[in-house]
Amino acid sequence: MYIYFGVCVVVLGLVFGSFLNCTAMRLVRKEDFVRGRSHCPKCGHELSALELIPVVSYIIQGGKCRHCKSRISPRYIAAELVFAVLSLLLYINLVLFGNIFELSDLLVFFRNWVLTGCLFVVALTDLENFEIYDGVLIFGLITFLVFGILQLVFGITDLVSLGWSLLAGLVTGAVMLGASLIMDRLLKKNSLGGGDIKLYALLGLYLGFYGAYELVLLSCILGLLFVAIRKLVKPEASKEFPFGPAIALSGYILLFAEEFITGWYLSFF
Ligand SMILES: [Zn+2]
Repeated sequence: MYIYFGVCVVVLGLVFGSFLNCTAMRLVRKEDFVRGRSHCPKCGHELSALELIPVVSYIIQGGKCRHCKSRISPRYIAAELVFAVLSLLLYINLVLFGNIFELSDLLVFFRNWVLTGCLFVVALTDLENFEIYDGVLIFGLITFLVFGILQLVFGITDLVSLGWSLLAGLVTGAVMLGASLIMDRLLKKNSLGGGDIKLYALLGLYLGFYGAYELVLLSCILGLLFVAIRKLVKPEASKEFPFGPAIALSGYILLFAEEFITGWYLSFF
């Protein structure tokens, strides 16, 4: 049973990963992503249903367009696999520490899955052109509210805790805005982008006050780590560095590891 659901999660993860990757690419290229059909970026050949199966199509076609034989970027298959893994980890967390037959746990799982999708798109667009799109963040906000209302309806949460979440989001955004204004003054250059600050606010909403505090610490650590890794791999790369992926990854990790991380560092005191 658990394995059957796990397979479903992986398959859906591949499909959503493909969809989210296309969404990110179309946002960056300002294409219409509701009506526009998927096509080969080289020759414009429209992809048939058979060519749209995640991973499988890529392997069968040997990573080439069936029409013009140009190489398909490995980005597609990488995005599908990465999102499938992210989805599977969320599911394993649910199985290990929750109950898949408990409505409250299921709601949190699906809510976090949708948020993971938003974070994934944020990371992709920020990596590609240093842009975090408001639409993606608003989608994350609406997701939180919709699931919040469902939790209210089923008596899983109350208005007070929802209010605290909203407050945590607002305070996180305000604190990061203040911090970035001070850093801009001190460093005499732009530190955090507006998108980064809004992303912090969105994650503060999901994670609460304590989680938001850990988010700031973890994202700084990961951000520095990413910069260091890139320095090693590509010393000639430009100074500009997207911070969104570090925030997004930290938020994802804290979605299910917050209690461990808190317990771990509190054990030092
Ligand atoms: Zn082609």
